[in-house]
Amino acid sequence: MKDFSQYREDFPLLKTKVYDKPLIYLDNGATTQKPQCVLDKLNEIYTLYNANIHRGVHHLSQIATMAHEDARKTVADFIHAKSSTEITFTRGTTESINLTAFCFGERYVNEGDEIIVSHMEHHSNIVPWQLMCERKMATLKVIPITPDGELDLDAFKNMLNEKTRIVAVTHVSNVLGTVNPVKEIIHWAHLNGTPVLVDGAQAIPHLPVNVQDLDADFYAFSGHKIYAPTGIGVLYGKAKWLEEMPPYQGGGEMIEHVSFEKTTFNELPYKYEAGTPNYEGSIALAEALHYVSAIGMEQIAQHEQELIQYAMEQMACIPNLRFIGMPKHRSGVISFLIGNEHPYDVGMLLDKLGVAVRTGHHCAQPLIEYYNIPGTVRVSLALYNNKEDIDQFVLALNRVANMLL
Ligand code: PLP
Repeated sequence: MKDFSQYREDFPLLKTKVYDKPLIYLDNGATTQKPQCVLDKLNEIYTLYNANIHRGVHHLSQIATMAHEDARKTVADFIHAKSSTEITFTRGTTESINLTAFCFGERYVNEGDEIIVSHMEHHSNIVPWQLMCERKMATLKVIPITPDGELDLDAFKNMLNEKTRIVAVTHVSNVLGTVNPVKEIIHWAHLNGTPVLVDGAQAIPHLPVNVQDLDADFYAFSGHKIYAPTGIGVLYGKAKWLEEMPPYQGGGEMIEHVSFEKTTFNELPYKYEAGTPNYEGSIALAEALHYVSAIGMEQIAQHEQELIQYAMEQMACIPNLRFIGMPKHRSGVISFLIGNEHPYDVGMLLDKLGVAVRTGHHCAQPLIEYYNIPGTVRVSLALYNNKEDIDQFVLALNRVANMLL
């Protein structure tokens, strides 16, 4: 087992104090802090080779273009895609899912068809499908969950039929931490001839991901949740789908030839990347992926598993604390409530003690309504968290619980 204490030193922001107390940052599900190498990379781009890519014959443009296309290759390798042409850069998970819902809907969905999502989805993996269903007069079906916060797989299998066009499901729940059996879900969907989009926003920083092993048709994630900047994300799609679907947005970069009579479109991977790409984002994302790869995703997963177990043991001793969701396979996230106290009050008091957590519905209102609660307090981990963070958090939570009860 690697000693993870060295990696914390790579993240300058973690040295910050809030209210004169050392910061305990446990809101990584929302966004992660950035290592020095990623900050340096952004600086390097703007100091040494900033130029618009793909268009210029000049030296700087060629360097920037090469770095952007190398980044695509890095992403493809990181998630084990067959080819870097299957990697489309987007603004993030939300845009990746919107792109898929729109383009897939235009090509394959007709009146009376069915789309399946689950009851534990983030709004980003609900609303784009709802919009598409409204446009196409299709129906949204929802996989139910169990009180422990797991998908009801038998119900899912019974929902599949000849009208099912696509299944969209999260790899890891951003509220419950449930690691869904996406490989099995994809297997069953494929037996029905149905493709699957996996929302990987909360899986990508915590688990090794192999899209070919999963046999995912689409896999979406955001850079900022895996130590890269905001504004850059990825849509992996099997070439077959990306080739058959119509483009998403029109503009520069995504065309082959434009005339007023007819425009033809660029080949993959440029077909869905209209306009100047976020090349500083893609290059910095590649740097972040190199960073976590050097540590090892298996090692990161193991380190975070140990922390989760430790945190849950410590938290269980706090009076009136109840966990929301007790999935068998959990990653990255713990949600809880203290008695009937509003999560916002708990979060605000923790903040005053230097502990940053998330409170509320976490953009998953249907899930929160299922549990009939006002929201949760959510602790979410990253590779730089350690047992001292958990100890400080539990100490603070004990104080908060005693203040409130
Ligand atoms: N899906 C899940 C499971 C998430 O947790 C999030 C963000 O928290 C998203 C989608 C949306 O990600 P972004 O806002 O980066 O597009």
